[in-house]
Amino acid sequence: MTRPRARHASVSGVTILALALGCVLAVTARSSATTGPAPGISRELARERARSIEHVRYELAFELTPGMTQAEGRVRLSFEVRGGAAPLVLDFGGDALTFAELDGAELDPAAIRVADHLVPRPRPLAPGAHVFRARFRAPVAPAGAPLTVFRDDASGAEYHYTLLVPADAHRLFPCFDQPDIKARFVLELTAPAAWTLVANQPPQGEPVVRPDGRVVQRFDETPPLPTYLFAFAAGPFAVVEAPAQPGAPPTRVLVRPAKLGSLASQRLIRMHHDASAALARYFDVPYPFAKLDAVLLPSFPYGGMEHAGAIFYREDSLVFDHHPTDLEDANRSTLVYHEVSHQWFGNLVTMEWFDDLWLKEGFANLMAYRLLDELEPGRQAWLRFHQRLKQRAYRIDVTPGTTPIWQELRNLADAKSAYGEIVYDKAPAVLRELSSRLGDDVFRGGLTRYLRGHAWANARWKDLVGAWSAAGADGLDVWSRNWVLRGGLPTVRATWSLDEGGRVRTFHVEQRASGVGGAPTWPLDLTLLVAAPDGRRREVAVRCDGPSAAVPELVGEPAPAWVLPNPSDSAYARFVLDERSAAALLDALPGLDAPLLRAVAFSALWETVRDADLDPARFGATALTLLATERFAGSRAQIVAALTTTIERYLDAESATRLRRALLAALTGALERGELEGLELDTFRAIVRLARDPADVAWITAVLDGTHPITGLELGARDRFEALAPLLAAGEPSAAARLDTLRRERAAEDGAWYAYAVGAAVGSAETKERYFAGYLNANEPPEAWAEDSLEFFHWPGQEALTAPYLPRALDSLGWVKEHRKIFFLPAWIDAFVNGESSPETLAAVDGFLASHPNFEADVRRKVLQSRDSLARAVKIRAKRWPL
Ligand SMILES: [Zn+2]
Repeated sequence: MTRPRARHASVSGVTILALALGCVLAVTARSSATTGPAPGISRELARERARSIEHVRYELAFELTPGMTQAEGRVRLSFEVRGGAAPLVLDFGGDALTFAELDGAELDPAAIRVADHLVPRPRPLAPGAHVFRARFRAPVAPAGAPLTVFRDDASGAEYHYTLLVPADAHRLFPCFDQPDIKARFVLELTAPAAWTLVANQPPQGEPVVRPDGRVVQRFDETPPLPTYLFAFAAGPFAVVEAPAQPGAPPTRVLVRPAKLGSLASQRLIRMHHDASAALARYFDVPYPFAKLDAVLLPSFPYGGMEHAGAIFYREDSLVFDHHPTDLEDANRSTLVYHEVSHQWFGNLVTMEWFDDLWLKEGFANLMAYRLLDELEPGRQAWLRFHQRLKQRAYRIDVTPGTTPIWQELRNLADAKSAYGEIVYDKAPAVLRELSSRLGDDVFRGGLTRYLRGHAWANARWKDLVGAWSAAGADGLDVWSRNWVLRGGLPTVRATWSLDEGGRVRTFHVEQRASGVGGAPTWPLDLTLLVAAPDGRRREVAVRCDGPSAAVPELVGEPAPAWVLPNPSDSAYARFVLDERSAAALLDALPGLDAPLLRAVAFSALWETVRDADLDPARFGATALTLLATERFAGSRAQIVAALTTTIERYLDAESATRLRRALLAALTGALERGELEGLELDTFRAIVRLARDPADVAWITAVLDGTHPITGLELGARDRFEALAPLLAAGEPSAAARLDTLRRERAAEDGAWYAYAVGAAVGSAETKERYFAGYLNANEPPEAWAEDSLEFFHWPGQEALTAPYLPRALDSLGWVKEHRKIFFLPAWIDAFVNGESSPETLAAVDGFLASHPNFEADVRRKVLQSRDSLARAVKIRAKRWPL
């Protein structure tokens, strides 16, 4: 699974991401007689069932009808009992159970429902084969349901799709909803004849046409799959087909017909084929499934979800109505490569429990960048890895809200909280470091053993460690203890002193724990890049396994001009600069020629700012200079994001206005002079985010109206909507009429969605109240709309309107966790906690934490993660810098 992508660079010190978690367990006890199993799926229940249940097979049938609010379904579930000591417990949280039968004996459906479960018989079943049959109804809604419907305003068409990760399959049908009871699925869908139906496996023969004109389509039986990977989708899709290629499966792309013209379908098919073939070679394990479909779904809550043989994607991650920017293009590639990697890591071999979520997500992200490096050379894969993944990981891992990569999980009802930067960003970073330490042969050899040894079954991270050991690795105990089982990371800096002659007297590398407690140090192998005053540079290797390590090679040398730790970005730690190096690198940075080195130095300076050890105004001046010549899109995004955060959060009002105007002048000037070929759209988006003054708003208006044309700038529909945000926020008189017109003109291009999102920027109390109420409505608007609007709700300069919502936002955390999908909760917390930078906001957050000491630990951690950037902003603003 992949998070939705933020369209704008990080603006608050924390990337604005969406989050959406699944579902709510309806916890009303429907049966009175028995105390029964607890809500959700507990570890104990899962263990007991995994021990006693095997050979599970579901025959499922669903009726799909336009306009439905419930789906009718039936299931025939066959399984074998190995001899368990506990009663049979199934999971079901759908709307209604209308018929149930166990081994041919009919049951009272109401009597067997207990919380989220079905207990068909209170005593243990006899060993051997059993069959449970049921008919049921499950909810269908634009949001908050296991079967989601998207209603296309323009065409009136409906698209239905399942999204059951991490444990929502039981909200759709009765099942054993845990990843380590893999089952074979046979699916039958009944639907209008005009709809294309897609499932994990190919259709089994031609559909049968019923007398009412509807069709019944069966699909081939799946190989063993966990419930969270079962999926289907239905709707009047356009379909592009491609046959199998050597090493790659047959592939179809399904998309709304209106988007077909903008879809680079052949490129998309080639990416899926190339990735499949490359991964089959790398893992030395063939592609595991019969086919690979890519289903593009509007307002899908994640970037993608790796259902076995049928990846579901968020349509706007893959289809662009404009020439995609370099960042959009690269993100599209890593998204596809991520999801294809899951077909091995996660789908062929599945985690036993969601505490090992990091295995599949960490590997999928590592492989995504490996494939970008291999299949699209020249895309600077590892520079992007540094700029996107590692920066996000550091930002969370430095906080007291961080967790180990492996996260204990007592109940699947809390599994959504395991998703986040630690599994998506830290896990691939430490895996990459491990792969360079073990060498590619051992690393790959272990992966092949692991995938072959556990194919079609489940495994734990210790199985992978065992596979690497068998392939020749050693020292993995220490690695596991420090990087898998322990949260946090070291902050590392070099310190040195000089003698009277100006030569190095002492030189050390020091590390201290950032964020969480526990042992203060990590075993670290790193390099230092040491620049002499004459400009010559040398690299020195240092092993730092304790709080401090001496670097004798440098003693007696002339004083360095600057020292930069980890110049090639191989180590995982937070690197900050000593005072002397920070000052020198502010000047030297624009002259560093290698893009990765420049980015690493920039990141180290930025971390030093975030530690309140470097004047943000001085940093801002250097960043502005750097931007003038930087032409790599990822690096420009990193610089613009840091500058935007500096302006919005770290500087006093007067300095912020000065820097914002200087940045806007630099961006608009470079655009108008035609200096930014290929970067025009990124630059325009940055301008939109920064515009406040009437002159800037007028500039945007003129560009939108075409009275001020910019060569090379091609705006998509969504950009036209989002460009209205500064107009709406400023109360520009034409703004509301422009939004209305655009919504009408662009109705076929998701105008209603984009208009909803950007409309949150209107600076009135009534508007904010209306949006806030919508956020706490489970079924409308679609979750992607709500999520996309959070950024506009918190439009900069509207703190007086939005800050008062913080207490209500915090009080709603339980509801949000329960009703929204995986990435909504962190986005929610971050929007409200990090939308402001004032001591009052910090005090309100701390007051909430103090008055809710026993608040759900997973949610509390997310609050602590967002609080960190807020606290840094407050500290930096309070500091007085020497002139
Ligand atoms: Zn994933």
